[in-house]
Amino acid sequence: MSTDRSERPLVRVDDLQKYFWEQDSILDRLLGDEPVPVRAVDGVSFEIREGETLGLVGESGCGKSTTGETLLRLQEPTDGQVEFDGDNVYDLSGSELTDFRREAQVVFQDPFSSLDPRMTVGETVQQPLDVHEIGTDDERRERVRDLLERVGLSADQLDRYPHEFSGGQRQRIGIARALALEPEFIVLDEPTSALDVSVQAQVLNLLDDLQAEFDLTYLLISHDLSVIRHVCDRVAVMYLGEIVEIGPVQELFDDPKHPYTQALLESVPRASTDERDRDRETLAGDVPSPRDPPSGCRFRTRCPQVISPEELEIDQETYRELMTLRERVERRDISLETVGDEDQFDLDDGTVPDEDVPAFVEALRNRLLDTDLPAAHEEIVERALAELARGNWDEAAAQLREEYESVCERQNPDLGNGGHPAACHLYGEAADRHEGTEPLQ
Ligand code: SF4
Repeated sequence: MSTDRSERPLVRVDDLQKYFWEQDSILDRLLGDEPVPVRAVDGVSFEIREGETLGLVGESGCGKSTTGETLLRLQEPTDGQVEFDGDNVYDLSGSELTDFRREAQVVFQDPFSSLDPRMTVGETVQQPLDVHEIGTDDERRERVRDLLERVGLSADQLDRYPHEFSGGQRQRIGIARALALEPEFIVLDEPTSALDVSVQAQVLNLLDDLQAEFDLTYLLISHDLSVIRHVCDRVAVMYLGEIVEIGPVQELFDDPKHPYTQALLESVPRASTDERDRDRETLAGDVPSPRDPPSGCRFRTRCPQVISPEELEIDQETYRELMTLRERVERRDISLETVGDEDQFDLDDGTVPDEDVPAFVEALRNRLLDTDLPAAHEEIVERALAELARGNWDEAAAQLREEYESVCERQNPDLGNGGHPAACHLYGEAADRHEGTEPLQ
């Protein structure tokens, strides 16, 4: 947003983790089960340079807001470090912590619930000045009047209550309150997503003007790529608690590297008529649970470019079907009984009699896979399904894993360094090992 850029990092986040442990049920405690953490933020690292706006974008539930709250120390981290102006935020106490709380502020998403309905606008904006005992009563009152004018409200409105204002005006009050202590840094957590489209641009322009006027540094959290593009200098893309790509905003929009970023951009409606008619690929599947994220690359269960083993020579659609089959075998998520009932096989204690195995395998294969496979793969799948029919689930899963396991599920790709890195095996060191592997079509 601002044009006067410094390269000096004001905020440096290093391997930040924030896990939540859900309350164990009585049964879990009786069984002695270990609590499983929800990995909301799982090892993110990035810098925010003085005077810039860094965007943090991703689908809902990806950990963006938790990252913002944890780096402001509104939540304590599970692990990792955040430096603000050279000091480790989690080591601060006493007056140093008070100073940090003055320097680093937040504007929340919902202007309807973030303001106390019992306090006048003047009291709301003045409260941080009272808490930090800044100035005399008259000076505080004068500062509040000035702040209201600066955010586009009238100083005469300071004795009114929040319900007397529109959504956009309430967000301006929230911004005035965040500015009261003259901070250096503000986390803007979805600052316009609760507002009408017509008001969003006004609030974004106001934030832009205030950044230039007060030399502010912003972390802008948003699920909305058009907001990010309008406002940010650089952008970090988050998926399931991790940063998967980071770079200058124009570069990332012009040349997205990570398949997740590509899919996010694909799903954005375009203004131009030519582009409006294009086939928009939407992201398939749901975001997996952060309690049990996929092994390796966390995007692999939805990635349209997942890397098959080099020698396979099958197309992406077929490979994805085989991966889904494998996952169902590993989860034991196939009902042999249903196939038995519907296709009239008599199962003996959950297994198929030897003489019926070939016919049962054929029936099962036709239910599980839509695609015709090359002969060699047909044979592999049938061998594994025959193990299933005999009740050997682990052996079936092992056979399929040996043939079809992807580097994407074995190794979690590093984000890497440089101006525009992406955490994907299609780039960097792993790509060298897979030289010649084109993204599968
Ligand atoms: S590492 Fe594999 S699964 Fe993950 S984004 Fe890259 S190609 Fe897709």
